[in-house]
Amino acid sequence: MHRGSKIAIDYKPGSSKSRAAAHARWFASGLLIPLIGGLLVYSLREESPTSTSTVPAPTITLPELPALETPEAEPDPIPKPLGDTVEFVVRRNDTLDRIFRQLKLSLTDLANIRGLPGVRENLDRLHPGDTITLVHDEGLLQALTRRISETEVLQVTRGESGFAAEVLATPLETREAYATGTIDSSLFVAARAAGVSPEIILALANDIFGWDIDFALDIRAGDRFAIVYEQKFRDGEYIGDGRVLAADFTNNGKTYRAIYFKSADEAVADYFAPDGRSMRRQFLRAPLDFTRISSNFNPRRRHPILNTIRAHKGVDYAAATGTVIKAAGDGKVEFVGTKGGYGRVVILEHGGGISTLYAHMSRFAKGLRRGQRVKQGTTIGYVGSSGAATGPHLHYEYRVHGVHKNPRTVPLPDAAPIADAYRAEFEARTREVLALLDRAQDSAVAAVPPPD
Ligand SMILES: [Zn+2]
Repeated sequence: MHRGSKIAIDYKPGSSKSRAAAHARWFASGLLIPLIGGLLVYSLREESPTSTSTVPAPTITLPELPALETPEAEPDPIPKPLGDTVEFVVRRNDTLDRIFRQLKLSLTDLANIRGLPGVRENLDRLHPGDTITLVHDEGLLQALTRRISETEVLQVTRGESGFAAEVLATPLETREAYATGTIDSSLFVAARAAGVSPEIILALANDIFGWDIDFALDIRAGDRFAIVYEQKFRDGEYIGDGRVLAADFTNNGKTYRAIYFKSADEAVADYFAPDGRSMRRQFLRAPLDFTRISSNFNPRRRHPILNTIRAHKGVDYAAATGTVIKAAGDGKVEFVGTKGGYGRVVILEHGGGISTLYAHMSRFAKGLRRGQRVKQGTTIGYVGSSGAATGPHLHYEYRVHGVHKNPRTVPLPDAAPIADAYRAEFEARTREVLALLDRAQDSAVAAVPPPD
């Protein structure tokens, strides 16, 4: 099998997330989540020779990427075709036909390539920013290379009996890293300073602790976190962060802890508390997409519009018009339309006598209709200021048998815990990951510079 390290291309995939691009988006997204200051990031694999840290190499295994940790023997060198090399970056509305015409390449060659089995579906769908590498000799194509996934490259080469195509593996290496931090004033500045990608921080809010902690309203200065996460590398180059493997989050003095568990048979892949409870609940604490929340949120000073349980028994989340509103739980659309002071409002029925209400929307999710079933997290509408609203915000209500409950404090029904069949496997994995998390925290404490 060919390995990708010797492929003679300098590939810059359009979909890959360079740190610079990620940070640019981070700034552009304008997050409400408060800043996490004083972040410290270490690679668990790459100790500085002058470091006094004693973090041992991680002992955890990564079942989803077992083969990628150990590079195989040096691959056969792939002969580099002769000719001129063109790295073509796809623009909007580009087609292969147009690209070949522009570069004055043989359209007969293009037709022959597209006739190869397995090529057409991997070649015809182009996205702006994709790179296609073309080697040609006086307009006659000698080779074409294109990344088709994070770990695969399609290579077409001209041989003596015509073109041949193959898919080359370009494996990713994952390394575990960790970050610890204390929330100060605004999340994204410190995250940028520490090199933690927005995806990792948002995973904490959207995928891991979003059922326990209201990241829009509950975050306090002094809240802390520690995370162990994956970083992805190809040929030694950082290409992005992977999954959070374990995390602690201390909110207002209470510590929540989560572990990612994927069973060997891959039937289970989710976050759990160390005792096996699912991190999920049947309802989200705050039904908003944190990637889109925009507000001058300051954790030291509560915004007057926030955290007010009004006479109408709801909680209000200030957020920019257009911020995604998500279904708090699985349910059925009971009402979608306009209702007096609520403006554009959606009501969901969840069973067990529980219903949720989302008011002042600027618009509904496309096609949303009464009677439709929705899953937790489904986009149902967008923040606005319709009805009796002084500014754009989500007004959210949670009712049990018609009685309003404070959605910020109501006990939320649990999702199913780890199944008995996976309990032993889960506990073994948990011990490994928690050891890693504890070592990360110990080292972070040891590494914090003395105050000046
Ligand atoms: Zn309200």
